[in-house]
Amino acid sequence: MAGIVATAVYSAGFSPLLSVLAFATVGVGTVAACFAGPRRFGAEPRAAWVLLTAAALAFLIGVVIRPWAVTLPLPFTLLSDLTTIPGYLLTASFFVLLLRARQSVQRHAVLDGLLVCLAGGLVCTLLLAVPAALVGGRPAFVGVLAAAYPLLDVVLLLLVVNLTFTATSWPLSLVTLLTAMALMGVGDLTYAVLGVSGRLYASPLLDVPFLLAFVLMGVTTLHPSVVELSRAARRPVQAWSWRRMSLLLPAMVTPFLMLVLVGDRSAGHRVTIALVGAAMVVLLVIRAVSAVQAQVAAQLHSEHQATHDPLTGLPNRRLISAEIERLLDGTPAGGDRRVWVYLLDLDGFKWVNESWGHDTGDQLVIEVAARLRSVVPPARMLARVGGDEFLLAYVGEQTGALRLVDEIRGCFAGPLSVRDTEVVISASIGIAHAVSDGDPAVTAEALMRDADTAMYRAKAEGPGRSTVFDTSMHDRVRERIELEAALRTALTRGQLRVAYQPILHLDTGRPVGAEALVRWDHPDRGPIPPMSFIPVAEEAGLIGAIGTWVREEALRQLAEWRADGTVTDDFYLSVNVSPRQLNDADLPLVVAGELLRHGVPARAVALEMTESVMVDGSSVTTRVLFDLREMGLRLLVDDFGTGFSALGYLRRFPVTGVKIDRSFVAGLGQSMEDEEIVRAVVAMSHALGLTVVAEGVETRLQRDALAAVGVTQGQGWLWGPAVPPGEFAGHWHAGGPAARAAAAAGKNQRLATPAGKGRNQLTAGNS
Ligand code: C2E
Ligand code: CA
Ligand code: CA
Repeated sequence: MAGIVATAVYSAGFSPLLSVLAFATVGVGTVAACFAGPRRFGAEPRAAWVLLTAAALAFLIGVVIRPWAVTLPLPFTLLSDLTTIPGYLLTASFFVLLLRARQSVQRHAVLDGLLVCLAGGLVCTLLLAVPAALVGGRPAFVGVLAAAYPLLDVVLLLLVVNLTFTATSWPLSLVTLLTAMALMGVGDLTYAVLGVSGRLYASPLLDVPFLLAFVLMGVTTLHPSVVELSRAARRPVQAWSWRRMSLLLPAMVTPFLMLVLVGDRSAGHRVTIALVGAAMVVLLVIRAVSAVQAQVAAQLHSEHQATHDPLTGLPNRRLISAEIERLLDGTPAGGDRRVWVYLLDLDGFKWVNESWGHDTGDQLVIEVAARLRSVVPPARMLARVGGDEFLLAYVGEQTGALRLVDEIRGCFAGPLSVRDTEVVISASIGIAHAVSDGDPAVTAEALMRDADTAMYRAKAEGPGRSTVFDTSMHDRVRERIELEAALRTALTRGQLRVAYQPILHLDTGRPVGAEALVRWDHPDRGPIPPMSFIPVAEEAGLIGAIGTWVREEALRQLAEWRADGTVTDDFYLSVNVSPRQLNDADLPLVVAGELLRHGVPARAVALEMTESVMVDGSSVTTRVLFDLREMGLRLLVDDFGTGFSALGYLRRFPVTGVKIDRSFVAGLGQSMEDEEIVRAVVAMSHALGLTVVAEGVETRLQRDALAAVGVTQGQGWLWGPAVPPGEFAGHWHAGGPAARAAAAAGKNQRLATPAGKGRNQLTAGNS
């Protein structure tokens, strides 16, 4: 508002003093605004706004001294041009920086600009500069200089217009900037036309466009949307655009128009028009070529994106699938040459992701990809086909193929440094191979699926293993599917039972608790060991239902035993829970309901879970564990010592005890190492206030060794396998024969139950 009032005052020309004051207000105000506005709003890039401030200053000086300079003799007449022309150059630099920040400087945009500039230049030269130069009474270059300004405006306008090509929204700052440049063009054109008539300065009214331009520049920099000027909403595309065409078309007809319009058909004119026309044709050709090139590049880029993984730049599943297909077609049968497909899956990747964050996970994948790439023969394709899965195709004989497996393993031998962290990781590798003998069943898809099956086998054997696919795995897959179906019926037809194995106090030999173990008696196939159907149930999503059934049955049994005096009040029943069950946020509530319904106190129930639950577990699992502990249940770590060596989770999670895995117990009395491990576990558990149960105690020797190192509770065939509830009650009744004998002897004798059943089952399960 102040700017407009000042402009009005200036143009009215009340008095010289008022005019100077008004002018100073606009000029100094704009320079100050250009300096302070962008700083205040944090507009980027900083250097650009410094340039614009300098430009405003240069224009201001130019306009101020012009009325005075034109009265001076030559060459001082040109004093104002000496600052104005640098002002244009500074403004142009400002736009270039802005365009760069918007990533809008592109070859075709520059070519378009040159085309328009050539046309504008031609018009300026023929209609303004030449006539102005011919004006008598002054050197020719004074006139030419005056006529040059519109050309400078053309350049500026072009840069601004380019700015608008990448705009999807029109912030106020952009509109005012555009208008300011247009007003400057109008002002300059007026002066240039004036120049043709031989004058260099006429009246203050001619300065109005400049003053308004100044005011608008101030508005541009003082409006908060100034920050948006350096941000393009999207990258410019080569798409057809009327905006672009509305500039290019007039430019292209200009040479023809000039030919027709310019009255004076001197040879010089015609040569100029022809030269400019020719230059424009050359530019158009270059532009066409550039457009085609850009098109091809864009196409290649999008093809690359469709077939490559963005994180590692490796081919994706689609591409390697096609490659394997090609190899199968192109590898002649005969000889020992085969097509090999390797599927690699990182072990514990989820763990890395969750403990260090996804960025580190990504970084690790990139690092692994680079290492793999360095061992895979350059001609062979390596692809990333999943979060932590890589697929690799190889053609050759078996020895070469197996050597490659060793080399891949070697990739994981040393730690990978990822963001100042050393990560040790291994990969499970599944390998499938085939010759193409025209068999339609041998497809890339089938090979990849076989490699996947083999990889799962390898994973089941432990981390860092590799397995070559054989057809028996298919049978196993089929068997698994059958087992799954049978398990569903088992659940509905009541083929499941719960067996109970006592947990004893090593000193007194009296049962302190029991573990509930599920049993499945298949009507045709006989007993099926839990080791073979629990994993299937987990994968098929049946574990929740089975777990609930087992828990329900065990709690009912416990309530009965507590009521009839079979067990004492401090006796606890231990139930196995799998990771999936603990990932169910409703579990604590469900368990609370069950306890209430059966009238069993929470302290009489223990839940056994593997270490992986806590190491891999989600935030839901963590919540569930804390809730269960809060309710008073005991939480035991099953198979302790077989999983991860990081023990931090023992402190982070509310566990109450550990069950030493039977593999350590088996070595007692024979292996010093196992004894040391058990000793260490006991020491650590004492320090953390955890209870210790030894699993798989089969001999007196083991029991004595355990007692010697301070283990207090044991479970194993020494005292008997898991038995049906009736049998359990018969032997372990709190006042029964076994208990009395144990109490009398202070030690416990072996239970006279046929242990064969339990033993057979376990053997079957482990094979
Ligand atoms: P686990 O939790 O480690 O259970 C102990 C296993 O060791 C049982 O095998 C038991 O019969 C066996 N065992 C007991 N004493 C001895 C011994 O002195 N020597 C040897 N070598 N083995 C002994 P089982 O019953 O075949 O169960 C195998 C696994 O199946 C269990 O291992 C547990 O992980 C899982 N499982 C069993 N019941 C359930 C259940 O209800 N829910 C879930 N989620 N898993 C269950
Ligand atoms: Ca267990
Ligand atoms: Ca166990």
